[in-house]
Amino acid sequence: MRFSPIAQISRSALNHNVARLQQVAPHSKIMAVLKANAYGHGLVQMAQWLKGIDGFGLARIEEALALRDSGINARMVLLEGVFSEADLEQAASHQLDVVIHDAEQVALLCQAQLSQPLRIWLKIDTGMHRLGVQPDEFAALYQQLTESTNVQQPLNLMTHFAVADELENPQTVKQIQCFNRLTAQLPGERTLCNSAGALSWPAAHGDWIRPGLALFGGNPMVGGRAAGQQLQPVMTMRSKVLAVRDLAAGEPVGYGQSWRSNNATRIAVVAMGYGDGYPRHAVSGTPVLINGQRYPLAGRVSMDMITVDVGSAKVQVGDDVVLWGQGLGVEEIAECASTIAYELLCSTTARVAYEYID
Ligand SMILES: *Cc1c(COP(=O)(O)O)cnc(C)c1O
Repeated sequence: MRFSPIAQISRSALNHNVARLQQVAPHSKIMAVLKANAYGHGLVQMAQWLKGIDGFGLARIEEALALRDSGINARMVLLEGVFSEADLEQAASHQLDVVIHDAEQVALLCQAQLSQPLRIWLKIDTGMHRLGVQPDEFAALYQQLTESTNVQQPLNLMTHFAVADELENPQTVKQIQCFNRLTAQLPGERTLCNSAGALSWPAAHGDWIRPGLALFGGNPMVGGRAAGQQLQPVMTMRSKVLAVRDLAAGEPVGYGQSWRSNNATRIAVVAMGYGDGYPRHAVSGTPVLINGQRYPLAGRVSMDMITVDVGSAKVQVGDDVVLWGQGLGVEEIAECASTIAYELLCSTTARVAYEYID
């Protein structure tokens, strides 16, 4: 028996989520965002499972080249752009779309000597204030790019939302209006929506949606749960009980003795710790599934283990544990650790084994 964590990755859940996103945004193509090792699910494997999808979004050129090397021919977009002429040439020769998000990148692209024109997305900063050209410089930069022989025409248009996960926040409408005002008369394809935009802002679906988290079954909406969006968790983090301890009332558990039992109880020690990517800041009371039942985490998370208060339940060494995934939403665990589902999914460490199923 294996007493170490396994991230089980479900193909049927991934297919379900793709179908769900197609249903939510029926007139848009899907750019599956696979940055950060496909949110911890395995970059190449996820791209292979998603063969047939319209395209992929990546943060860094290395990620896209890894996919090309493994024989993936689909359209790919480098969401952060590239930073040297050599990278521009690599992007052009590997048929990678590049996001252009500031005046320096426009200049670099227009002056480069490229073997072939590049497909680009000009990104507008409509309020996120991270990447993107400013609304008042957009027209001039757009003009320069339309005149460049290094650019495949027509060029494409993009923006990114800051608070699409907050339904009541008027900022998203302002961002959509700003984008539409600047781009109304222009040709080319448009993309505005991450997962939260795709799920909640249909007016912004455009030609392409760019889901990451939702593909993997996470609900990006504030306070959201996967089931609330009819999504299924692709990753289920599993492990085993490696020891059980009976405790007298008032006895502490773990480092710092931060938790004490009120009554006589049983503690299950589970093979999963922050060295595997379980969040160290998960508080006592964070739910853990053992044999399908929820029990509270008791005491501090260690590097290789957590301790769980199972009361009087007949829990034994070797019993099955789910840390998040099927039956226990990753969003809930993230909240108990004051973080977000995104961070938990992409924090699994190298010693966690992966099992790809159905
Ligand atoms: C990461 C990212 C996405 C995907 O975001 P999710 O919230 O995971 O759907 C989309 N677009 C851009 C530009 C990104 O950086």
